[in-house]
Amino acid sequence: MGLLDGKVAVVTGSGGGIGREHALALAKNGAKVLVNDLGGTRDGAGGGSAMADQVVKEIQEAGGEAAPNYDNVATMEGGQGILQSALDAFGKVDILVNNAGILRDKTFSKMTEDLWDSVVAVHLKGAFCVTQPIFNHMKERGEGGSIISTSSTSGLEGNFGQTNYGAAKAGIAGLTRCLAIEGLKAGIRANAIAPVALTRMTEDLAMFQKDEMKDRMDPGLVSPLIVYLASDLSKEITKKTFFIGAGTISEMRMTRTKGVTKTDNGGLWEPDEIAGKIDEILA
Ligand code: NAD
Repeated sequence: MGLLDGKVAVVTGSGGGIGREHALALAKNGAKVLVNDLGGTRDGAGGGSAMADQVVKEIQEAGGEAAPNYDNVATMEGGQGILQSALDAFGKVDILVNNAGILRDKTFSKMTEDLWDSVVAVHLKGAFCVTQPIFNHMKERGEGGSIISTSSTSGLEGNFGQTNYGAAKAGIAGLTRCLAIEGLKAGIRANAIAPVALTRMTEDLAMFQKDEMKDRMDPGLVSPLIVYLASDLSKEITKKTFFIGAGTISEMRMTRTKGVTKTDNGGLWEPDEIAGKIDEILA
């Protein structure tokens, strides 16, 4: 018996990198998998069916069930098309992994509208375009579901040269927290992950080039967390963001300090009073 027997999973951007590992791991655990990939380059140029087809082949050769989809996650039609492909192939969706992504780094002062829009479109708008039809499908079926979206430490902690990517990735974490609240009544869970792994997206980062790091950066190390979050093993877990990389799993939290409350003057602070209390506010 597999942990995910009878379940159907959609994994966006699963023709390569971390998404491919998710698709293989979900299938290995018994899920039928829709392998979505636009098939373009790291910066989102071009497209084709070869990447998704290859992963479908790998899953089938290992005895699993999979079907391909080549839609663009960044459009409403693409999101609808992904749901439709899953329904045509397997009749339902229980698990969605929003993983597709591109990278177009530039320092903020040199950021262009095109670099901004294209990155936000694939990551943040893409999460909306794909999740909405699948969330509504899950609600209509009335059997719950698990939605796992891919954020990043670049958005949650910050990173040089990635204001477009970081904004989109932090947006995905925000979307996830709100969606978790909206999904509660229907038993639809929403969690996010912030992975670190060696893929074509990170292959030129110096820290990933060290030999002792390479083994710890296998993208396959990320996928057991996806299988856990997709399965009933995590049925109480929602609205969480997990860091996962190099063998470490931790929770990333948005925290609010205890703060300081002004009780006089109707709660209206003077700027110099804020300056006097800033250490306490930040503590
Ligand atoms: P990757 O480039 O290997 O994988 C991204 C996949 O998404 C590719 O197969 C690509 O073809 C597909 N894709 C791109 N645009 C698409 C679109 N519009 N529609 C459908 N598919 C599309 O990179 P990866 O490292 O495997 O990244 C996977 C996810 O993890 C991304 O969301 C990325 O931002 C995130 N992430 C990765 C790291 C890391 O260390 N590798 C760190 C933080 C976050």
